[in-house]
Amino acid sequence: MAENAVYISSIEHSKPTIFEIWAEESFMATLQPAYQLLSDFISSKLPQGKCRPLKLIFEWPDESFLIFNIIMQSTYLDWFSASFSESFYGLKRVNVASTAERLTTRAKILSLIGLVGAPYIMIKFKSMVDNYVFSSSNEGQVNATGLKLLQGYKVMSSALRLMKLYHYVSYLSGHGSQHSIFHRLAGVQLVHQNQPPPSWADISTLIKLEPNRSKLIAPLTFKIVSQLFELGAFSLQFINWWNSMDSEVFKFNRTPIPEPIDSIKTGDLVCPICRNSWRVEVVLSTSGIVYCYSCITKVLNETGRCPVTDLPFSMNDLIRLYPAAC
Ligand SMILES: [Zn+2]
Repeated sequence: MAENAVYISSIEHSKPTIFEIWAEESFMATLQPAYQLLSDFISSKLPQGKCRPLKLIFEWPDESFLIFNIIMQSTYLDWFSASFSESFYGLKRVNVASTAERLTTRAKILSLIGLVGAPYIMIKFKSMVDNYVFSSSNEGQVNATGLKLLQGYKVMSSALRLMKLYHYVSYLSGHGSQHSIFHRLAGVQLVHQNQPPPSWADISTLIKLEPNRSKLIAPLTFKIVSQLFELGAFSLQFINWWNSMDSEVFKFNRTPIPEPIDSIKTGDLVCPICRNSWRVEVVLSTSGIVYCYSCITKVLNETGRCPVTDLPFSMNDLIRLYPAAC
């Protein structure tokens, strides 16, 4: 009996290896890009002018992923004391300073900020910097505010990388129990789960043995919701893997190659929207048409489709052009 107790306690407090942590972090890191691919694909397939509420979800992929991520991570923190990917790898968070069995409210809120808030802020900061540099780079010159923003972003991301490296080294050498700054700020550390989540076999045994049907609602809802999240995350992971294949034929969100356009004459050195010489030339990677940055961003907000080819596009499809002076 005593031996069992020792075994259980050693399992409960066993630290995951750095490889388990990397696997869990890599899994989490692929969710947002895969969601972006899925959004691009769905919004390109929805007919123009129809399904407006659905289109809004996919036209704001960062925000809709933020909402999805908040719901998923807070549910997992509540149910498993773990993030979605930590739970997927059989890990959970325990309080460092408190002996409480469950995560404290403070630890949950800070965990949620580290899991959802911080990555969202970094993504928005990066896209703001890209936008600013893009729009202010008239005649190849980025203005002072754009440069400051760019430097600020570089300093911030370098500081985060250094902190990450410091925590990895300290975790590997056994000096620290937390492998990331966000776990440290939340006052939690990762350990192996001593009890795996119930399987479908456990649930079906419970259904057979429990005469009071109302007591089955909670475990059944719990199982179905967690299964749906796992299925959703697996599908996103699959899309990412599918899209990483070398051949263009396999690309999930591949848009058709546009037909040659008669209305655009090669000698026409003007923007197809304002019919003036380009101001801050950008090319749409989906259609190959060159527009003024300000003209095409207006169209992006209105229809999200190339005015010449009608192909859907997003901010990520704009490429700044710097025609060489001959
Ligand atoms: Zn224009």
